[in-house]
Amino acid sequence: MSLARSDRDRYAEIRDGVRQLCANFGGDYWRRLDRDRAYPTEFVKALTQAGYLAALIPEEYGGSGLPLSGAAAIMETIQHAGGNGAACHAQMYIMGALLRHGSDAQKAKYLPKIASGALRLQAFGVTEPTSGTDTSSLKTTARRDGDHYLVNGQKIWTSRAEHSDLMLLLARTTPKEKAAKRTGGLSVFIVEMREALGKGLTIHPIRTMMNHSTTEVFFDDLRVPAENLLGEEGKGFRYILSGMNAERVLIAAECVGDAKWFIDKAVAYAKDRVVFDRPIGQNQGVQFPIARAYAQMRAAELMVAEAARLFEVGADCGAEANMAKLLAADASWAAAEACVQTHGGFGFAEEYDIERKFRETRLYQVAPISTNLILSYLAEHVLGLPRSY
Ligand SMILES: Cc1cc2nc3c(=O)[nH]c(=O)nc-3n(C[C@H](O)[C@H](O)[C@H](O)COP(=O)(O)OP(=O)(O)OC[C@H]3O[C@@H](n4cnc5c(N)ncnc54)[C@H](O)[C@@H]3O)c2cc1C
Repeated sequence: MSLARSDRDRYAEIRDGVRQLCANFGGDYWRRLDRDRAYPTEFVKALTQAGYLAALIPEEYGGSGLPLSGAAAIMETIQHAGGNGAACHAQMYIMGALLRHGSDAQKAKYLPKIASGALRLQAFGVTEPTSGTDTSSLKTTARRDGDHYLVNGQKIWTSRAEHSDLMLLLARTTPKEKAAKRTGGLSVFIVEMREALGKGLTIHPIRTMMNHSTTEVFFDDLRVPAENLLGEEGKGFRYILSGMNAERVLIAAECVGDAKWFIDKAVAYAKDRVVFDRPIGQNQGVQFPIARAYAQMRAAELMVAEAARLFEVGADCGAEANMAKLLAADASWAAAEACVQTHGGFGFAEEYDIERKFRETRLYQVAPISTNLILSYLAEHVLGLPRSY
């Protein structure tokens, strides 16, 4: 029995529950949101009420205290059902930083409300327009001023900022040239966005090729209470990094779910569609790309399970989490391509949902980390090749 199969059995009940919930949010629901570029309010509400969004929050704070593999099973099932779980994965992994590095007071203040759905923690302000992937060069500053920090600067691609109550913000508290190392001098803050709007915080939506509620965010002397600093000043980069492996595993699980959705659709259509008096799926030219994508998906699924397993026993899972994300994003993209090709012209029709999922799954080659940067990580940290940047 493979790891992935035992994992599937372990979470069979959760998968069933998520599948049933997702059945109330079919293609017409996601198509309407996509058309209007709208936030999935009803879906997020239903997931919260069912407790799935609080999967990783410990029971003492009102969550279900599931391990990472449980959260991954939830994400995979949402995507496999044709939905879009972006809001869910964000809340799950952003919350991890608060859980691991927040003070008892911060955890008591925010976690129960996040678990109940009274507060959304779905915005993560790291990327900036000028620094891009080079996070240590970010320019947003937070300067201590009495009981507050004054935040100035700009973030880009801050997804769900308009729909989240809280944002986890990475800003520079010590100038780069004065920090002991490149990645030092960065700090993480919990920003209460409803309070901050109009008082130094401005949000501008960015329309993108898929529905992702992403934005650019401007800070102009925004006052953030000093008590909202997460952990110690100057250690923010480390805190953000410590959450990245979990994020990679969750995103990879989503990609596996997407790949399964595309493969299911492609197989069903290839059996059904008759051209030249036989099902198109009888042609090897149609079969092979789907079969290849299936093999890629299964390999990725095993790597996701392995990365989650290592994460859960507290072992270093940097290589596995990165490989899971790489393999799964490639598998979902291969499956998306095979699915469109199998459907011929119908792959482009909105009502089939394939073009929507195709646009959505393309993101994972770039965000939250691009494929190139994963390859650089593997080359340098696993294979011992010289650092390339
Ligand atoms: C829809 C969407 C939602 C997002 N949501 C969030 C969010 O909520 N919060 C947040 O903080 N960020 C978010 N991001 C940002 C995302 O994480 C970045 O877009 C991603 O990390 C890539 O950074 P960049 O766009 O600045 O590309 P750049 O860093 O400018 O890179 C551009 C290209 O060059 C390549 N490249 C750069 N350096 C190297 C190198 N040394 N070697 C090889 N190739 C290299 C990259 O792989 C990439 O393909 C989101 C992005 C998108 C598109």
